[in-house]
Amino acid sequence: MINIKKIKKEFPASNKSFVYLDSACSALKMKSSADAQMRFLLDYGSCGGKRAVYKNALRVEELYESARSDVANFINSQMDEIVFTSGTTDGFNILANSFKFKTGDEIIISGLEHNSVFLPFYRISKEKGLKLKIIPIKNYQPSFDEFKKLVNKRTRVLCISKASNFFGGTVRTEEIVSYAKKCGIKVFFDCAQYVSSHSIDVKALGADAIAFSGHKIGAPYGTGVLYINDLLYNFLNSSAVGGGTVKDISISNGKIDVRFLNKFYNFEGGIQNYSGAYALSVAIRKLDEISYFEIRKHISSLVKYAVSELNKIDGINIIGDELEEGSIISFTSINKNFSYPDFSMFLSGQSKPVSVRYGKLCADLASINTGIKSVIRLSFFVYNTEDDVNYFIRSLKKYLKLID
Ligand code: PMP
Repeated sequence: MINIKKIKKEFPASNKSFVYLDSACSALKMKSSADAQMRFLLDYGSCGGKRAVYKNALRVEELYESARSDVANFINSQMDEIVFTSGTTDGFNILANSFKFKTGDEIIISGLEHNSVFLPFYRISKEKGLKLKIIPIKNYQPSFDEFKKLVNKRTRVLCISKASNFFGGTVRTEEIVSYAKKCGIKVFFDCAQYVSSHSIDVKALGADAIAFSGHKIGAPYGTGVLYINDLLYNFLNSSAVGGGTVKDISISNGKIDVRFLNKFYNFEGGIQNYSGAYALSVAIRKLDEISYFEIRKHISSLVKYAVSELNKIDGINIIGDELEEGSIISFTSINKNFSYPDFSMFLSGQSKPVSVRYGKLCADLASINTGIKSVIRLSFFVYNTEDDVNYFIRSLKKYLKLID
């Protein structure tokens, strides 16, 4: 069972006088991880060891590579399949811009993808003359039958989320992914929402690539992971080369020759966010120590409780499928006086300000494909409690009385 007192010490901002229900955007930050980042910066703070051989640089490198190893263990992959990024958005931009597409190739993405997945592939499809197809959503899940109709010989890539940030629950990907694999399609997973309450096994997922962000699990901003399956490297031409990515460069008789390094080296050009990657690995280790099983149970029970409380209120429509699997509750209201911006301001003005989100939440595809223009979203992480839910529900009732 989660020891909430201990957890709240680990997330100092969760003890402040506000109710934070926006962890789906960014989780409050973890003390062990922030301390590790700070110590790394102040104790070492030098060049990294791929460029220099002095002691400090070698220590930076050692810690950086230990972070890579921790992340690899966490997702059941090999170390050299881990590329550190600045987040999920960065990861999907790298994938879209690095994949060796040929004119006429096709990409399929699920109809609930975040703009950080949709837009990089949209843009590359315009630039390279590719066809971008979108899987329709049925009952808050991408439709397997519709997916099959979209696949053909030119389909190269499928992008799919394990959890939407627009509505609750998780995404059932098994059928779609196993069909895609049979057809030789590379499968890229967005695990940005999923990772905050689920451990990840890239092999069980059948992933050729996954991306997630550190800041959604208590690690510093601007940290993230892109897993690239060993075989997938052959299909990519790194879009982000620079210092540290080359074996050698020669110029002879005006002919320039560059030989690049392989695997993750080729994707981490320039001085890296060594301290951030290290702090991310500390956050992952801490969550593992708390136990993902317990975290999942804790968040599930909060979702269940919040759903039961919301269901007691007239005119609230909760949207999503298998909600207890996820960490988000999104709802709409049928009350014509209910204004989402006003309600959010009202919550913010409570004696304990409540942080929730409203709108399309950067998930325009999910909004278009479900026909739901805007939602109110609550999202939970390990530090939330039933008290947070109760405070929100009381505030919601106060607001509803006000607009009655
Ligand atoms: N995908 C999903 C499902 C998300 O929720 C988010 C963040 N809201 C992203 C991708 C983008 O993540 P980041 O902003 O950390 O790059």
